[in-house]
Amino acid sequence: MSELTDLYQEIILDHNKNPRNFGPLSSANRSREGYNPLCGDHLHVHMQISDGTVKAINFEGSGCAISKASASLMTSALKGKSIEEAEKLFADFHAMVTADVSQPVDENSLGKMAIFAGVREFPMRVKCCTLAWHAMKSGIDGDDNVVSTE
Ligand code: ZN
Repeated sequence: MSELTDLYQEIILDHNKNPRNFGPLSSANRSREGYNPLCGDHLHVHMQISDGTVKAINFEGSGCAISKASASLMTSALKGKSIEEAEKLFADFHAMVTADVSQPVDENSLGKMAIFAGVREFPMRVKCCTLAWHAMKSGIDGDDNVVSTE
């Protein structure tokens, strides 16, 4: 397991330091706020959804390394995906991080995000790594909510 732990730390540190898809998204038609009071993570997820596809997805805000790395990997994974694919990834990711530690991890479905299986040993951290996912899911399920300033 030490190899997985090293990889876990490497990926989380990398994405925390250089988060992908970080910042505002001018084309967004869905934005959701996610707040995890247990840790203080506070993120916004911005999405441009049209034709049943996640055309673009960004996030911004502040939080611990796990919450930011998870948001960074999530946005990288979801860009260009259909709503159905995004919902399936949400379900797979959520099932993985809330499963018992003895459960095998489906790396085929989750790719790099499979490293977050490491948080199963730290229940407090599950909320950190699912924060951006819950915000994304809420945005997919909801209506357009961004008020245009034009
Ligand atoms: Zn956190």
